Amino acid sequence: DLLPITVLGLGNMGRSLAAAYLAAGHPVTVWNRSADKADQLARSGAVRAETAAKAIAASGMIVVCLSTYEAVRSTIMPLETELAGRVIINLTTGTPDEARQLDTWAKEKGIGYLDGAIMAVPPMIGSPEALILYGGKKELFEEYQPVLQVMGGGTTYLSEDTGVALLYDLAMLTMLYGAWYSYFHAHALLRTANISAEMFLPYTTNWLQHLIVPSLTSPEAARILDEGDYTTAVSNMTINKLGLDNIVKSSRELGVPADWLLPIQAVADQMVAKGYGNDGFERVFESMIN
Ligand code: NDP
Repeated sequence: DLLPITVLGLGNMGRSLAAAYLAAGHPVTVWNRSADKADQLARSGAVRAETAAKAIAASGMIVVCLSTYEAVRSTIMPLETELAGRVIINLTTGTPDEARQLDTWAKEKGIGYLDGAIMAVPPMIGSPEALILYGGKKELFEEYQPVLQVMGGGTTYLSEDTGVALLYDLAMLTMLYGAWYSYFHAHALLRTANISAEMFLPYTTNWLQHLIVPSLTSPEAARILDEGDYTTAVSNMTINKLGLDNIVKSSRELGVPADWLLPIQAVADQMVAKGYGNDGFERVFESMIN
C-alpha cells in the first residue's frame, strides 16, 4: 500500500504536486484556503478536507506549498499538536533563514521537517526532468526519497543545512530574472527599428549557444570565480566598460530605459579606476563578495 499524502495549498504548483501523487496511486488528501481549488482534484480521487487540521490528520507526510512562509507559519503553527510525529515537506519559496527557523520550530515540536526548492514549473511536476532540491536531516530525506521522487525525477539532497535549498533557489532565480530582463531590454531596442522577436531568433540562439552559455557553464568559467584569477587575453574590463557606456548612451538616444545597467556600469567604472582595466569583466564579482 502506498503512503497517504496530504497536500496543503492548491495553487498552480500545489495542484500539480497533488495530481502527481494521485497519478502514482497514493491516497491523497488536500486542503486549500479557498475550497474551490480542490474541485478538479476531488473529481480525480483526492479527499477534500474541510480544514488544514483534518487534512493533516489523514497522512504522515504533509506537503506544503503556499505563496509565502508567512502563509505557511499562520497555517501550520497553530496545528503543532496535530503535526507532532508527522513529516512536513515544505516546498514554499522563502529566504534561507525562514527555512532554518521553521525547521528549528518543527524540531522543538517533534515534527519532521524537510525544506525543498522546486526548480521547475507545474507542467514539469512528476517528470524525470523536474529538479527539486532539499535541505534538512539526511536520514529523513533518505527515508522519504522514493516518495519525494514522485514529484520530480531530479529530487536531490543537498545539505543538513535546511536553508541551502532556498539558497540554490535564490541563485537560480536571480540568474533567471537577470536573463529575462536583459532579453526584454534587447527586444525593446530592436523594436525601435521594427525588428520582431521572431526575426531576431537566430541571433539570440547563436549568441546564447556560442557565447553566453559557455561563459556561464564551462569549467573554466567556474574556475575564474572560484580561484579569483581574472587575467584575460580575450576581453578586458576597460573595453567592457566602454561597451556598457555605449549601451546606456544608445538606449537613451532610442528612448529605451537602461537604468538597470547603471549599477553595473558604476562597478565597471570603479574597477577601471582602481587599476583593474586589464582584468576580465569577471572581476566585478569581487565587488559582491567579502
Ligand atoms: P499560487 O498563487 O497559484 O497559489 C498560492 C497558494 O497559497 C494558494 O493555494 C493560496 O490559497 C495559498 N495562500 C496564500 N496565502 C495564504 C494564507 N495566508 N493562508 C493559506 N493559504 C494561503 O502560487 P503557486 O502555486 O504558483 O506557488 C506556490 C509556491 O510554489 C510559491 O512559494 C512559489 O514560489 C513556489 N513555486 C512555484 C512555481 C511556479 O511555477 N508556479 C515554481 C517553483 C516554485 P488561496 O487559493 O486561498 O488564495
